[in-house]
Amino acid sequence: MTRRRLGLSTRAIHGEPQPRADWSPVAPPIYQSSTFVNPIGSDAEPLYTRYGNNPNQVAIARRLALLEGAEAAVFTASGMGAVALAHLAMLRPGDHLVASEWIYGGVHRLYQEFTRLGIAVDYVNPTQSRNWKRAIRKTTRAIFLETPTNPLLRVIDLEPISALCKAEGLALLVDSTFASPVNFRPLEHGADLVIHSATKYLNGHSDVIAGAVAGAEPVVEEVRKLMQVWGQALDPMAAWLIDRGLRTLAVRVERHNATGQKVAEWCSGQQAFAAVHYPGLPSHPDHAVATRVLAGCGGMLGLELKGGARSAERFLRALRIAVHAPSLGGVETLVSEPRFTSHASLSPEERAKAGIPDGFLRFSLGLEDADDLIADFAQAAQR
Ligand SMILES: *Cc1c(COP(=O)(O)O)cnc(C)c1O
Repeated sequence: MTRRRLGLSTRAIHGEPQPRADWSPVAPPIYQSSTFVNPIGSDAEPLYTRYGNNPNQVAIARRLALLEGAEAAVFTASGMGAVALAHLAMLRPGDHLVASEWIYGGVHRLYQEFTRLGIAVDYVNPTQSRNWKRAIRKTTRAIFLETPTNPLLRVIDLEPISALCKAEGLALLVDSTFASPVNFRPLEHGADLVIHSATKYLNGHSDVIAGAVAGAEPVVEEVRKLMQVWGQALDPMAAWLIDRGLRTLAVRVERHNATGQKVAEWCSGQQAFAAVHYPGLPSHPDHAVATRVLAGCGGMLGLELKGGARSAERFLRALRIAVHAPSLGGVETLVSEPRFTSHASLSPEERAKAGIPDGFLRFSLGLEDADDLIADFAQAAQR
């Protein structure tokens, strides 16, 4: 009998369903233990939580691999830990990396550290594949990008970039935090490694810091070996919380998608906003790519208020539901201003040139009723 491929929701809950012993707990126990009893005379790798082989860590790694369509995955103590180890698994001193210029601020800072390791980084605008090609040198080993991007939600078409990587023998690393495997699975589009800040949608409840890397077994094994010595293993309690979060990933993201679309459409008809950035709107520059490659456009929304920083501040103070906080992907709606967070290092002119003028608000729409979020936006816009 050929096995039916399970849907994403089922995989997110059960992984590969296993027979369960009588009287065994339905919810997994938390193995809050640093170490485990070793069989005497065994030369097998000991179970030790820093090694990433604690049962809580193993369970979520297996589940994420199934969700991403990867051979293997490993979780780390933060998204930054995952980004750092994924790069260290691919790059050596003397190597060159080409990175998208639209990436998480922490990764920019990490790349400054890479200079000290003898790894050179060049940035390109990721929307045109000829930019990538031009940036490649003899020493280039890998390409790194994020999609969808922060905070303009640009959706990068991976097909031409992965074709270039195949032709040039480069590894393609993709930070897929904003999409989650429900909306986009980079490995299906030619990426070699997918990276997540599991702090965001994978966990989904704003109560854990974690990261993950998924891909082919030999590369993930390399990441795991680096993790054992650089020390970014995930705590068992955090792993257990992610296990719980993953069970509702599909239904959460479907709701984020529906709310994102509804709120974005409403916002685009309002006088108060100079621009609305959401890939599900026909006005978005990547609407066609998004429609082709994403299963849904997610819950991230960029709003530009007319009247700049002052109106943005007034709007923020009037909001009753959205919480003013960085980060994203939780059940509660969060809002932040890129001018104080991700794009604080740029001048107002540079930000305006990058399409993120002062007055720009980034929303992570949560799981509240969309109509309540819309009513909240409406009253705040009238202040
Ligand atoms: C938050 C974030 C990170 C960093 O993750 P942490 O879990 O905070 O370490 C990396 N990439 C993206 C796209 C993020 O949003």
